[in-house]
Amino acid sequence: MARITLENLAHSYMDHPKGAEDYALRTMNHVWEDGGAYALLGPSGCGKTTLLNIISGLVTPSEGKVLFDGNDVTALEPQERNIAQVFQFPVIYDTMTVADNLAFPLRNRHIDEAAVQKRVAEIADLLELTPDLKKRARGLTADAKQKISLGRGLVRSDVAAILFDEPLTVIDPQIKFQLRRKLREIHEEFALTLVYVTHDQNEALTLADKVAVMVEGQVVQLGTPQELFENPAHTFVGYFIGSPGMNLLDCHLHGGVAQVGGMSLPLAHDTVRAARDATGQLKLGIRPEFVQLLDQPEDGSLPAKITAVEDLGNYKIVRATLGDEALAIKLPEEQPVPSEQAYVGFPARWTKIYADDRLVA
Ligand code: ADP
Ligand code: MG
Repeated sequence: MARITLENLAHSYMDHPKGAEDYALRTMNHVWEDGGAYALLGPSGCGKTTLLNIISGLVTPSEGKVLFDGNDVTALEPQERNIAQVFQFPVIYDTMTVADNLAFPLRNRHIDEAAVQKRVAEIADLLELTPDLKKRARGLTADAKQKISLGRGLVRSDVAAILFDEPLTVIDPQIKFQLRRKLREIHEEFALTLVYVTHDQNEALTLADKVAVMVEGQVVQLGTPQELFENPAHTFVGYFIGSPGMNLLDCHLHGGVAQVGGMSLPLAHDTVRAARDATGQLKLGIRPEFVQLLDQPEDGSLPAKITAVEDLGNYKIVRATLGDEALAIKLPEEQPVPSEQAYVGFPARWTKIYADDRLVA
């Protein structure tokens, strides 16, 4: 397995890129540790597949380098990089049996046939493909075919890293959950360096130790699920992760006070100090989980109007307005909701200021 370093990496599909918008990937520097499970999370078109294909060697970056364990592999072909890649749609040989499909990457490398059989049996067992081993791939369901693709990716134990590009897209939601857990188990068992592309936050957060959140060709934050939740470095991380996402309210700062929705909210000293030199468009961010909902004013609370309550079974979402700003508040199911006129509190620890979308820290 390998540590992957991306050094001043950038990519444009154009011959003569001019501005930043001509780049599918904007300059990035990252180190992904050996044996780590990483997810690349972001909306369609943000550059996830481009980055994955650069790591595997299918795409040569227009700028910068890719290193495996410190060795420059930027100019190497995919087969020279010793990588397994699983794509969004099944890549299998329809006329071969399931067993031969799984064995293919091993036979290709002239592995001893007894070892091939043993490994194929293990992988088939893991993916619950054992009853299908003798069947031809052609007649199988899309789910089963994608499981074969996963198996072909997982069958070699000597790869530097295994890369997945939204591999569960075609999988039935019922077994998606189960396969996700399987992948997690496999990662733990073999200590593979795993890079997993998805646009689904649940998938990213359950599968990966660290998630790289991407938007418009940039990794805006690389962090643990907890870091992304508690301390979003960018407004995009705030609203893309979480359900509902972070509240982001327009604000102005005057002295130690934030003006939000036409009201004054005193801020913590640390926040004030950090935001002192902030320029650009300012936003105050707080996750719906951390807003306090009160029926009486308290020190530092602001009056809010409750406009709707959505009961979602084990929790509820309260919609409120704070002056002219909308606010979502997430409450445990059992917590009572005050009448229409209520008050909201913003605990200092969870109240963040963003300047031009970047966290002021
Ligand atoms: P994602 O996987 O996150 O959906 P991609 O990496 O596929 O994003 O695409 C990133 C950007 O690069 C998009 O704007 C896309 O249109 C563009 N792009 C992707 N592949 C090519 C290509 N082969 N040629 C030109 N532009 C491409
Ligand atoms: Mg893609």
